[in-house]
This record gives sequence, structure tokens and C-alpha cells, in this order.
Amino acid sequence: MLNRSGGTKGGWVSTTVVIGIDLGGTDIKGGLVAHDGRVLERRIVATEAFGGPDHVVGRIIALAQSLRESAASRGIEVAGVGIGAPGSISSREGMIVSPPNLPRWDRVPVVEPVRSAISLPISLENDANAAVLGEFWRGAGRDCDDVAMLTLGTGIGGGVMLGGQLWRGRFENAAEFGHMIVEMNGVACKCGQRGCLEAYASATATAARATDRVWRGEASSLKTLLDRAGALTARDVVEAASAGDSLAAQVWDETCGYLAVACVNLQHVLNLERIILAGGMSAAGVPLLDGVRRHFDRLMWPDVGDRPQLVLAELGNDAGFIGCAYLALQAAGGERVGVA
Ligand SMILES: [Zn+2]
Repeated sequence: MLNRSGGTKGGWVSTTVVIGIDLGGTDIKGGLVAHDGRVLERRIVATEAFGGPDHVVGRIIALAQSLRESAASRGIEVAGVGIGAPGSISSREGMIVSPPNLPRWDRVPVVEPVRSAISLPISLENDANAAVLGEFWRGAGRDCDDVAMLTLGTGIGGGVMLGGQLWRGRFENAAEFGHMIVEMNGVACKCGQRGCLEAYASATATAARATDRVWRGEASSLKTLLDRAGALTARDVVEAASAGDSLAAQVWDETCGYLAVACVNLQHVLNLERIILAGGMSAAGVPLLDGVRRHFDRLMWPDVGDRPQLVLAELGNDAGFIGCAYLALQAAGGERVGVA
């Protein structure tokens, strides 16, 4: 069992180093990570998704090989590779099922081709799970065994750790927080349901709600921005809200309210110690945290002490590959001590 503090419990040696790789639709981030979570080196290459699955798997292999060579030049041997991939994956079969941001990918084997090219143990995980593992190990979830993370971007994803273990679920689709229904008969979500959290509280939905109201002729400083840029972002909304724009403040407050609904529901189901807000929209910082906390306190049971800490993620774009490294360490440690 991996000791999160980076100690030697469970057969670890102090020089163990692994490679974490985070595959995204635009780029592939990779890092050489020590047993204690220190990032010794990080690299980023373009995914070149237009080249198709074989080409991209080849780029993953090349990135892993270059990181391994770099380790070798320092006299360090790499113990394994962890790969995080978008969308549904089958960790049991070692394949990526059908990622929404990698068109033409359908049940693409990843583990086997990478393993046969570089002859190291390979782990595969969904990128949202990888990110929560990263925060759990070395970020906002450290020192905490029951933690959920909501990743707020163009969509809403997440991950959950219970009793210090990643919870994947029977069909490996746990923690699809963006598709919790927060409005019965609400607006259509692109997943086919109605009233999903993602359709109200993602960065995309936040920007769209503000845009819609400005188009309808409501007064707002956002109108000038919309006329000039042709589109609004969630960042525009939170900045205008912070500058005192009342429409923007209402839209932002609604977003925080829906996120608080999700957090209250998660708390009642899972009884968490901490809920981490991550992803691009978490860059909003205090206005996000304060808004969600205010609604959370309003909605949650009064006078009950078992409340989660609501915090911001700490590792940014590094969370994914650091979490993949954690998986690779677990796999390597498991082999060393003979544990599955
Ligand atoms: Zn949905």
C-alpha cells in the first residue's frame, strides 16, 4: 500500500520514480515524478488528434520514452507509467472507449501497445479520476480520506475518493457529477438528460446564460464586451460581477447556487471531509468559493457539524499526470510486495 507521505511502507525504496501522462484532446502532458510526489521534470507535446488513434498512441510512447531517457541520464530507473485519458475508459481491458474530445476513437487499446513498446508496467485511468488522485496525493485533498472533486470547465466532471480509495463504480462511470439532475424538467443537456448540473453551472452554461440575458436587452456592462468580442466567457461574467455589474452578479450567483446544490447532495450521500473545486472555472478563486459556501450554508441542514471543507484545487494542470504517477507507483509497489 502506498504511503502518501512518500515513505517506504509497503516495499518502497526511496529512489522509485515513475512517469505520469495526461492525454487531452489538445495536448499530452507528461512528467517524471518521484515516490514522494516531487515533479522532477514535466513535458508537454501536441496531441495531434487529427492523425488518428495509432498516431496519438505513438506520441504517448515517444513522450514516455523521452522521459525515461531523461531519467536514465540521471542514473534513475523508471518503475512504471500511468496514463490518464479522457472520457470513458476500461481500466480492466486497458482501452479508451469513446472520448468525446477525440473524434474517431472507439475502443482503442492503449495499455498493450505502450507496454510492448517500452516494457514497463502500465496503468490506465480516466483523466478526471487521475486529477482527483493527484489532488488527493499532493494537492488540496492531502491528509484527507473522503474527498470529492468537481472539475468545472466547458463541462463538469469529477472524481471521488472514499476511505482513501478511488471509487470507480460497477460500470466504471462513478462521479459523473456534471450529470446529477439539479432541475427536474430543466434545460436539455447534451448527454440526453434534462436539468443536469453541467447545463447550469459549467463555464459554458454560465457564459450562455449571461449572453442570453444581454441579447434579450437587459442592461449590463457585458453588452459592450459581447458586441466587441462576439462571445462571452465565464471569466467575463465573474469579472463583471466583481466589478459591480448586477446582471453578471445574478448569473454568477445562480452558478454558485447550483454548485452548492450539488455539494449538499454529495454531502448527504457520501459524508465527505472535503470537496475540491477544480478546473478552469476554479481560477475565479474567492468569488467562486464564497458564492458556493454562502448557498451551501443556506441549503444544508442547520446546526449539524459534519460539514465538508469547500476548497480550491491546488495543482492546476499538473493534477492529472501527478495522479497518473500515483497510480503507477501503486502498481509498481504492488508488484514489489506481491499484492494485486
Ligand atoms: Zn447531462
